[in-house]
Amino acid sequence: MFTILQVNKELPVSELSGHEYVALFGGRDVLLATTDGVNRLPRAAEVHDLLPKDATMLVVGSIDGAVCCGMPANLDGVALPHGLSVVSTRQAFAESGPDIMNAVSRVREMTTWHRQHRLCGGCGTPLSFSDTDLALVCPKCGERYYPQIAPAVIVAITRNNRKELLLAHNKRFTDRTFGLVAGFVETGESVEQAVRREIMEETGIAVKNIRYLSSQPWPFPNSLMLAFEAEWESGEAKPDGTELVELGWFTKETLPTIPAPGSIAHKVITQFFNL
Ligand SMILES: [Zn+2]
Repeated sequence: MFTILQVNKELPVSELSGHEYVALFGGRDVLLATTDGVNRLPRAAEVHDLLPKDATMLVVGSIDGAVCCGMPANLDGVALPHGLSVVSTRQAFAESGPDIMNAVSRVREMTTWHRQHRLCGGCGTPLSFSDTDLALVCPKCGERYYPQIAPAVIVAITRNNRKELLLAHNKRFTDRTFGLVAGFVETGESVEQAVRREIMEETGIAVKNIRYLSSQPWPFPNSLMLAFEAEWESGEAKPDGTELVELGWFTKETLPTIPAPGSIAHKVITQFFNL
């Protein structure tokens, strides 16, 4: 099981024991090991030759007691030891357990956060690690900086006694996939308000009986997806034309192509229809 480390900690590559789990990611890809058909993070000894000798890893937690660390790496065209492969992060999430998802999400988000917070936004002084919590601290003015999470709502909108689900084709989708209506929570807004606003903006309908389902971290770049179910109340569903270009009410029998496994949309839709 992945356990989060709640302080900043770095580990030089030269001090690795070999036993650590290592999350190496490049762009949207991540390096995975496979044993007996099951994905896992590689151990430091397995990736030792791929690591720059003078680099420093970020420790983000532990998996079953073993230190879990990681860093960005160039994985393009690298000769890989037997049993290791480079896969897209989305594919890794789809085909692996929650440990990999949690560890890779955390390494990606924390290394990005460090890169983007080298200097104090108030006075320009280089920031230091806090000893007591997961913060970066300005030694001059005392300002503290914490990792930012962007909450987003994703909603299964139902009609006709839960026989139908409203699914949307987003213009960013490269194929005929239909997913759920989703959007970021605005500053100063409750998640329930965000559910109503996003649905009204993107589909023109009003909903009632909003009910929380589950959540999932989504490191593209630093979201927390909060899934809800809501019941159609009034209005005719029409796509906004800017984000959504097609909308439809679907039953279990008429279900179109839905988002890939590993996404919370896939989980919510398949659970809704008991697939
Ligand atoms: Zn400062």
